[in-house]
Amino acid sequence: MSETVASDGSFAAIIVAAGSGTRFGQPKHDLVLAGLPLWQRSIDAFEEAGASEVVVVGNVPGGVPGGATRTDSVRAGLDALASGSPVVLIHDAARPLVRVSLIEAVVSAVTGAGVQGAIPAIPVTDTIKKRDGRRVSGTVDRSELVAVQTPQGFLTDALVDAYRMSPTDDATDDSALVERNGGTVVIVDGDRSNIKITFPGDLTIAEAILAAGTP
Ligand code: C5P
Repeated sequence: MSETVASDGSFAAIIVAAGSGTRFGQPKHDLVLAGLPLWQRSIDAFEEAGASEVVVVGNVPGGVPGGATRTDSVRAGLDALASGSPVVLIHDAARPLVRVSLIEAVVSAVTGAGVQGAIPAIPVTDTIKKRDGRRVSGTVDRSELVAVQTPQGFLTDALVDAYRMSPTDDATDDSALVERNGGTVVIVDGDRSNIKITFPGDLTIAEAILAAGTP
């Protein structure tokens, strides 16, 4: 596990925009939010935050081909990285409202001593239950839970190593692979406006957030 700590603040970004958009009902790379494609909004935010390199994975102009799963798509993005930045942030194009301040907070946290990864998270407000079919089998203590967003930031060596050690694993986020590989991942305060466009109604909510002037 790498202990290298970036000192110059430089970071690369991988924006994953591939996949079939099963829950949305169509691939999300074609979606437009207030006149801009979803993926373009993320590119703009990372460029404004000063990323040394932005790799986009998916069927978009200049994009790298994605894979069958999100994990495969991130792997393709890691293979395409050219800048050698000591820190890499992975971001879902499905979160087009990412703020520059959140990107900066993740970069800052991942360069802390003894840290391999930093992820934005927000408290869970719904009560969470376990189920066995239709029967409720338990209630989880939500004070122990957080809901995790992207961008997730990592020391590049640590993330590449975690992906190399998990050649067949699938995971819903990148932190899971780093955690499994023994890495230390810390939480930064997430942003409730940084919603994920999963269902068609989420686009309407994102439009309302933009119209309200945030971010
Ligand atoms: O499907 P899910 O909601 O987990 O997708 C999260 C992000 O991962 C989206 O931005 C989507 O474009 C991306 N993705 C990908 N390749 C896949 C599946 C999802 O780049 N095969």
